[in-house]
Amino acid sequence: MITIKKPDHFARMAKAGEAVAAVHRAVRRAAKPGVTTRHLDDVAAAVLRDHGCIPSFLHYHGFPAHICTSPNDVIVHGIPNDRPLQDGDVLSIDAGAIFDRYHADAAITFGVGEISAEVQTLIDATEEAMWAGIKAVAPGARIGDIGAAVQAVGDRHGYGIVQEYVGHGIGLNMHEKPNVPNFGKAGSGMKLREGMAICIEPMFNLGTHETFVEDDEWTVKTADGSLSAHWEHTVALTEEGVKVLTAQPELRADLWGSD
Ligand code: MG
Repeated sequence: MITIKKPDHFARMAKAGEAVAAVHRAVRRAAKPGVTTRHLDDVAAAVLRDHGCIPSFLHYHGFPAHICTSPNDVIVHGIPNDRPLQDGDVLSIDAGAIFDRYHADAAITFGVGEISAEVQTLIDATEEAMWAGIKAVAPGARIGDIGAAVQAVGDRHGYGIVQEYVGHGIGLNMHEKPNVPNFGKAGSGMKLREGMAICIEPMFNLGTHETFVEDDEWTVKTADGSLSAHWEHTVALTEEGVKVLTAQPELRADLWGSD
């Protein structure tokens, strides 16, 4: 269901969002060739603890870790493991936090060591698509406006736009209605209104949009082995306007004006 939030609910989600942003900073700093994603999971666990947050992902439908670490052809839901990162890996980190029962959820993608210009463009375009989707958020706008804005960026580059996995509402649960697809028609779908919070999370592939799930029943990969990128923010329609609750602090000031 969709939970309509009051200012104190959003304040709690903002606390969770700060923790998620801190996880991303710490994990990105720690991710180097030779480091394992299991170590990155430990780094994330400590940051969440320091922020007084509970991890959203740990034990979620049995998920065994604090964050999802999705390298190369893994699109989403990769499980941290003992494989050392290698120079040239493209790594997505998805993290969720709960503060006083309210969730925030976000993902970043970056290169480990040196990556090709082609892969950097994939990463940058996926982030650009996320921001295009965020810019479409306003009271009275529709879910399809977001999908259309995201899709336009992916189509311009000819990327495979993942369809089976989509953005979502968020609040007392990590995944709430409505679904927020990364494709769609402007002017279609549910109307957004104050009190809603949603996660916008494009997943773009260098090759096909088609996916498959590994035997571990979590790891989602591109069907053709092509590289994939994933970006996500939690966005709130508050009485003070649209706020990106998981943005890095410098960006938050930029988006809202410093206060
Ligand atoms: Mg999400």
